[in-house]
Parts: sequence; C-alpha cells; structure tokens
Amino acid sequence: MKNCLRKKCQKEFEPNKPKQVFCSDKCRVYWNREKKASLIPETKILTHEEAVQIKKAIAKQFKERYNVEVPYLEKEIPPIPTKLPNEDSVDFAGRKSEWKLKYGNL
Ligand SMILES: [Zn+2]
Repeated sequence: MKNCLRKKCQKEFEPNKPKQVFCSDKCRVYWNREKKASLIPETKILTHEEAVQIKKAIAKQFKERYNVEVPYLEKEIPPIPTKLPNEDSVDFAGRKSEWKLKYGNL
C-alpha cells in the first residue's frame, strides 16, 4: 500500500505499477495543476526595481511601435481628459488624441 502523493488526498491505495504515486488519474491531474498554481503567487507585490523594469520594457515597446521617446514614463499617468465647460470640441479632441498618443496602449 502507498499513500497518494497529492497532499489534499493522501488516500491509501494499491499501486497497479511500482512507480504509481497517485491514487487516481484525477489526483495526478490535480497535483500538476496545483503545482503550477503554486509557482505563480496570486497576488504579487512588485518591488520598486521590478516596477521600473516593467516601465522600461513598456517604454521600449512604445518606442518600437511609434518611434517616440517616452520621458514621462517615470511620472504618474494623468487621467484621460474630459471636456471643459467652454472648450471647443476640436480643441478637446486634440487634447484627447494627444493623451492617447502619450498614454494609450500602455
Ligand atoms: Zn489521491
């Protein structure tokens, strides 16, 4: 008799083959799934260094795609512009497309 390798199960079973470590195919599949899930923490808090790395990667992509340098990346991204009470709609469209060019697709 052996005990199933899957921690959540650990059922005693009679192996059909000497190498068998799981009581069932279901446990083998679940064990693999659980192992994979454990490698990727559900909530990962980025360190400052990791965040900078990601920003740099985004800046690189942006440069390749639009051929634009992105020196503002270290700053916070401002909210998307909303139309001001007396603003001309052409001016507003201009401000909005400028924002999209700078911060869209990031
Ligand atoms: Zn099992």
